[in-house]
Amino acid sequence: MIELVPDKEELIVMKFGGSCLQNANSFEQTIEIIKNYLTKSKLIIVSSAMKGITDKLIDFYKKSCTESSECEQIVTEIYNIHRKLINQIIVSKKDEFTESIEFLRKNIEELTQLGKLVRLIRPSLHIQDLIISYGEKLSTYILTQYLNSKNITTKFISSHEIIITDDNFGNALPLLEDSKLIINEKLVPFIENGSNRTVCITGFYGATKKDKKITTLGRGGSDLTAAVLAYSLQHLFNCKVVYWKDVKGLLDADPKIAKKTSLLRNISYIEAKELAFFGTKVLHPLCLDVCEKGNVPSEIRYFNDPESKEYTTITKEIVRDGKIIKAITSIYKLSMVTVESDTMVPLPGTASKIFSLLGDNNVNIVFISQSSSENNITFGIDFEDSMKVSFLLRNSELFGKKWFRIKINNDISLVAIIGAGVLHTPGIAGKVFMTLGNNNINVLAIAQGSSELNFTAIIERQNCKKAINILYDAFIS
Ligand code: ASP
Ligand code: MG
Repeated sequence: MIELVPDKEELIVMKFGGSCLQNANSFEQTIEIIKNYLTKSKLIIVSSAMKGITDKLIDFYKKSCTESSECEQIVTEIYNIHRKLINQIIVSKKDEFTESIEFLRKNIEELTQLGKLVRLIRPSLHIQDLIISYGEKLSTYILTQYLNSKNITTKFISSHEIIITDDNFGNALPLLEDSKLIINEKLVPFIENGSNRTVCITGFYGATKKDKKITTLGRGGSDLTAAVLAYSLQHLFNCKVVYWKDVKGLLDADPKIAKKTSLLRNISYIEAKELAFFGTKVLHPLCLDVCEKGNVPSEIRYFNDPESKEYTTITKEIVRDGKIIKAITSIYKLSMVTVESDTMVPLPGTASKIFSLLGDNNVNIVFISQSSSENNITFGIDFEDSMKVSFLLRNSELFGKKWFRIKINNDISLVAIIGAGVLHTPGIAGKVFMTLGNNNINVLAIAQGSSELNFTAIIERQNCKKAINILYDAFIS
């Protein structure tokens, strides 16, 4: 457990994901965890939608656009799932029971009306966000009432009142300073009051600043809600975020590929961001950034074994425990583009022209490597962008000309070793080459990510699994 400086009161922001909110059993487990932590600290509880509900709501929105007859059925399913839960977890003679049923009924009615509205007006991302926010609204309200019915006094807050975002519907970005202001104005008086120990806040959505339209923060966005809350309260409390997940924490390699893996007990935000870049999808990628900015430590803990000593702690400081290489990761499916020409030397700005062209067309560049002779530039793109890039380059004024040769290899993977200090440590590159070479794996290109935290080798896809395992043996185990 992270030791917090004792000058400020401790406040833990806890995020429960959909896998913690599946059925009566998991709600019981959730409340046990909450009870346990409440003996030590004040809590802000952030909850996702019940498992599978966001998907159903997205489906409902899509089917509403096409006037499908299945809409009604989806809403009924959503109603039934929540209704069954309420029946199972809240004693029927309690006020909380009646209030929950009433809340559910009212919101399902609204949802049905919204579905009809979608059929009348043009589909819009704004309406989609509004519709999918109902998942969090329902689960969080029921959790609040469940806690109250068990004499854990808490309050329901809908996050559109306190999380301000831009208007990029579907993937909105929280406006940190605006949110911080409102959180301090609206939430702080409540939590600073000595008798209030906890509050329940919906994850995943916020609202635009000007016209208060509901926005969602991208899939898995409740993580980000928790991070924004902790960021905004860190000046008043000793905040920490605990993410309850269906995994023990971050691993040092992908268990689907690597034969051996182990849990990363301590890792810094910059290293964790590197892992996220290379495809580790345990947390919403932006929540790492927000917690790092706010200097808020966080923990990823295993919901099914809450007392376990095995979990991941993420901090701003880099923990130097003698291990330089923390993890081995990969991106399995990539394409590599090589633009070659003898005329690149006398033509300054070629690289910038390539990358502006691709950037303007929303192509994400995963790595870049250029030979010192400057007659070629090699870069990696998402496999799915391969056709588009081929088209863009071959039809461009400049690169379509015959003095440029464009090659695209669609059968590559990227493997990366990650750890703060990788690039300052002599011998690492040599060891990567030697390890791969001794195992007959040809390195097609090497690259350094945007940070100095990884060393990346590009190899043929057929060798990816093998490469991960031998690098793991050479550097970690
Ligand atoms: N319910 C949303 C989703 O499924 C947000 C979340 O789970 O964090 O993506
Ligand atoms: Mg979820």
